[in-house]
Amino acid sequence: MDVYDLVVIGGGAGGLVTASGGARLGAKTALIEAERLGGECLWTGCVPSKALIRSAKVKQLMEHAGSFGFSDQKIQSDFPKVMRRMRDVIAAIQPHDDPERFRKMGVEVIEGRAVFTGPDRLEVNGRVLKSRRFCIAVGADPHIPPIEGLDRVPYLTHLNFFDQSRQPEHLMIVGGGPVGCEMGQTFHRLGSRVTIIESLDGILNKDDRETAGRLHEILVKEGLRIELNAKADSVERQGDGIRLRCSRDGRSFTVEGDAMLIATGKRPRVVGLGLEAAGVRFDPKGIRVDRFMRTSNPRIFACGDVTGGPPFTHMAEYQAGLIVVNALVPLLRRRADYRVVPWCTFTDPELAQVGLTEELAERQFGKGGYRVWRFPVAENDRHIIDGETEGAVKLLTRPNGRIVGCTILSSNAGDLIHEYALALRKKGTVADISGMIHVYPTRAQANKRASDQYFAAKFFGGRIPKFISWWLKRVRPRPT
Ligand SMILES: Cc1cc2nc3c(=O)[nH]c(=O)nc-3n(C[C@H](O)[C@H](O)[C@H](O)COP(=O)(O)OP(=O)(O)OC[C@H]3O[C@@H](n4cnc5c(N)ncnc54)[C@H](O)[C@@H]3O)c2cc1C
Repeated sequence: MDVYDLVVIGGGAGGLVTASGGARLGAKTALIEAERLGGECLWTGCVPSKALIRSAKVKQLMEHAGSFGFSDQKIQSDFPKVMRRMRDVIAAIQPHDDPERFRKMGVEVIEGRAVFTGPDRLEVNGRVLKSRRFCIAVGADPHIPPIEGLDRVPYLTHLNFFDQSRQPEHLMIVGGGPVGCEMGQTFHRLGSRVTIIESLDGILNKDDRETAGRLHEILVKEGLRIELNAKADSVERQGDGIRLRCSRDGRSFTVEGDAMLIATGKRPRVVGLGLEAAGVRFDPKGIRVDRFMRTSNPRIFACGDVTGGPPFTHMAEYQAGLIVVNALVPLLRRRADYRVVPWCTFTDPELAQVGLTEELAERQFGKGGYRVWRFPVAENDRHIIDGETEGAVKLLTRPNGRIVGCTILSSNAGDLIHEYALALRKKGTVADISGMIHVYPTRAQANKRASDQYFAAKFFGGRIPKFISWWLKRVRPRPT
């Protein structure tokens, strides 16, 4: 039997950070991966999706070259080349997650599927590994909704979406969440017709309703068909294509297309891991962990999508960082702090969020307990210069100016949101942003201008200007 200090199961975002941290701290560390190091983010998630988004953006810019002083181009998509570029991007990033790199760090990388056989041991490829600490970072599978006939038609999930060799003429997407919206806009820009079927009354339902509604309008204006409050009931083959039957308010309608992406969220991988033998409590929503990322078996930790928390790479990495310390250096142990979790949907414009949305602020503080400050990016010089004037910074504060949330709809919103994330983390106020010098001309100035609104309302909207004008009249030199 081989004995370790730390055994990590799953080589995605969470597992890689845990394993490299463990080895760097001098722990005898094994990393077990059933498929490919890199996990969802590298192979079927963030990286391929953002690579396609970039290609689609280049095409869209060229088609609108007229507004930059050139002649408009009619760009023909070369889908195989677009997909090849996507694979090149993966290949360029893959060395960060290469097994050899991890072996050089001192991690023993084991290819195989791990199954717990007891509270302090597991089995992989017939070998038994015993360890003082374990980290479960096995991610999640696509959630497949109960659509009648789905098992009889070829459908896509993020697992095979990026393997497509032929561009769909009409892509139907079930689910108007981040993946549905990002890939819907991208494939529409690449030249496919796109229909999104969403069962709720708005896309991106975890985001600020008003701002997600604005993004919905932008997507529809661009040409996407988005069916809200619509349930996908059944599906069948229709010649070479697929016919999807949906219903809304008891009325049914059909959508026909040649490809269908199911993008209705994910289900933590809790089955087949031997969690019962390990004494790890779980349910279909994921492995239960405490604020130290410990499972019900104190020697086993878990992080990332398998815990059922917000399914982001940065979340998995943050939790993994905690596990390295909590599992190996308990004297320095730290609690997870989820008060500030920024996220972004990488549509164009991007929609980024940190802290409370307006709905949550109203629930938490009541109608009079918060203020909303908006700054449309169409009034920011850099956005105008770059011809990207859709969106706004929407800032939520307490009446005393303490920042409680921020929503940004803008190009590069995913980058811009961090200024407010830091402000929230430091319990900052609008004065911290407004009083800071921002480089001109940058998009970040829109952040400052949103905070400036607070002072504009206070100083220019009240009695202060009247008083100053009265006082200036009094001290004004008299003409001699
Ligand atoms: C299309 C798409 C786009 C996305 N875009 C973004 C984005 O822009 N930003 C963002 O933050 N997040 C994004 N995400 C989410 C992000 O990919 C995940 O949140 C993140 O990868 C989760 O990391 P993880 O370590 O929990 O799991 P994973 O990356 O899924 O890793 C789990 C690993 O465990 C392995 N494994 C499973 N079972 C076993 C076993 N029994 N033994 C050994 N190994 C096993 C798997 O093979 C896998 O490699 C996106 C997701 C999708 C689908």
